[in-house]
Amino acid sequence: MAARPTTRFAPSPTGYLHLGHAHSALLAWHAAREGGGRFLLRIEDIDRTRCRPEFTDAITKDLAWLGLDWDGPVRVQSAHFREYRAALDSLASRGLLYPCFCTRAEIAREVAAIGAAPHGPDGPLYPGTCRRLLPAERAARIASGQPYALRLDMAAALAAAGGPLSYEELGQGRLRCDPARFGDAVLARKDTPASYHLCVTHDDALQGVTLVTRGDDLRPATDLHRLLQVLMGWPEPAYRHHALLLGPDGRRLAKRDGARSLREMRAAGMDAAAVRAMAGA
Ligand code: GLU
Repeated sequence: MAARPTTRFAPSPTGYLHLGHAHSALLAWHAAREGGGRFLLRIEDIDRTRCRPEFTDAITKDLAWLGLDWDGPVRVQSAHFREYRAALDSLASRGLLYPCFCTRAEIAREVAAIGAAPHGPDGPLYPGTCRRLLPAERAARIASGQPYALRLDMAAALAAAGGPLSYEELGQGRLRCDPARFGDAVLARKDTPASYHLCVTHDDALQGVTLVTRGDDLRPATDLHRLLQVLMGWPEPAYRHHALLLGPDGRRLAKRDGARSLREMRAAGMDAAAVRAMAGA
């Protein structure tokens, strides 16, 4: 890891932050501050249907209340779709992407018909229907205005990347990657011009992030991220995937299960130092 690490906290404003987010943010912040490095805040709001400005507003207030400061301006991903487009264009120009016109229902039907379709970290693997479309058919569908996602042609991407992939996990050494378990991953959705996987790797490279600190739930994604980094010639950060904070019921904290938000704790007049201690980082 770099002597002066650049770390980041990159929440998606789809709800209010809870203690699990505080844990993650504090780990990244401590790593930066103790190593004389930089701590960045990035708002990952590419999904315009789920992200809301009031959540972004609460994120900055919650972090400031916890006593976290960040370096430089906050990067807000929704302002940078053109940059993600350029990365997609680069992959497409090398024949590594293809348009996928399938609806969710069509994919579900195909997967059911296959029977035991293999599953990846994001669900059942795409059976590759649109990868096999003839060029004329593909062109006709695009010309007719049929909406499409962009998928990575995994076999072509692995061939282009060359040898085996791995990453440095702090305290664990180099771990092997298996990006193929994602199948032909979606890099741009019909309703969102770029995917999490593309934007996060693009921005970590652009912002010079040298240590990615995030929850263990995102560990599988790193396999795909390393592939994108190699394909795009982006530098390789080190990783620290931390255990997720669990609630009193032993289950992971989640916005959707109504985990108590930092905002509520702040409004209730709780002591920020006590909340930091609860976040255990
Ligand atoms: N935006 C992602 C999330 O909130 C985290 C991205 C990352 O840390 O790589 O789940």
